[in-house]
Amino acid sequence: MKAKILDGKKTAQDIRNEIKAEVDQLRSRGLRPPHLVAILVGDNPASHTYVRGKMRACAEVGFDSTNKHLPASTTEQELLGWVKTYNEDPLVDGILVQMPLPEHIVPQNITKTIVPHKDADGFHPLNVGLMTLNFPGILSATPAGIMELIDRYEIPTKGKHVVIAGRSRIVGRPISILMSRGGQPGEATVTICHRYTPPELLKQMCLQADIVIVAVGKPGLITADMIKEDAVVIDVGINRIEAPEKKSGYRLVGDVDFDAVAEKASYITPVPGGVGPMTVAMLLSNTLHSYKRSHG
Ligand code: NAD
Repeated sequence: MKAKILDGKKTAQDIRNEIKAEVDQLRSRGLRPPHLVAILVGDNPASHTYVRGKMRACAEVGFDSTNKHLPASTTEQELLGWVKTYNEDPLVDGILVQMPLPEHIVPQNITKTIVPHKDADGFHPLNVGLMTLNFPGILSATPAGIMELIDRYEIPTKGKHVVIAGRSRIVGRPISILMSRGGQPGEATVTICHRYTPPELLKQMCLQADIVIVAVGKPGLITADMIKEDAVVIDVGINRIEAPEKKSGYRLVGDVDFDAVAEKASYITPVPGGVGPMTVAMLLSNTLHSYKRSHG
């Protein structure tokens, strides 16, 4: 394989170690640790797995954590009630509501109700606005994780062409802002492709890209013939595909044809073990940031 691996698993471990050292210091000064609350509505198995992973990460760094599991029948008003309770609780520093929510709940109504300084996912419109204008604030967790990975591997972005596939509120759109705004990483020329970008144009754009970031949710969307020699490829996609040989019956793959693209790219993120663990590390980092803010 030609490409070097952008090892999100190891980098996230480094970040968790750094956070744990800070938490140990807080405890040694007699202060309480940061506290993250995850609210999960319903019984989506993947969501349960994600929340369990987040709770494990909290335990590892010494955070307090609460896993608030509500039934799928929870109304929007009831969920808003829980969010408001945690908003007002001075012993809670970070709140996240695991997506997707049941169809009768409008996710934007929940996102905008979390007080911006406890918004562990960084989805609140105020935080997205601050990020857009390059003011300090909480960054959307997955895009922040991608930026951190690129930064720690010292991949240059200034003046580079970054092509992003996907324009979601939680990945594609915010990463396009972070990549194009001032700072390192940043200062890039950015192209966003989405569901209405004709396949041939997506290919043309990707072939011009120094860095390709894919957040679509379609296995095999990005093939080797779409990638320029020595490009950097960041695969955000997480897809379950059938794998009868596995005990679980499935395995996780990204949106990139990994084996073939890895023969052309200079760097590539694996799935799993790339962007996913970085997202969780950034959730912890955002919660620590909120804690520090409220403790002066
Ligand atoms: P989404 O599911 O909300 O939307 C998908 C996006 O892809 C849309 O903007 C759509 O316009 C675009 N799209 C659809 N078909 C396309 C095509 N043929 N070419 C180009 N763009 C196309 O997006 P999301 O919530 O950002 O999730 C995308 C993927 O990333 C999913 O697999 C999800 O599981 C994964 N994800 C991973 C992490 C992580 O931490 N690794 C975090 C969030 C999402």
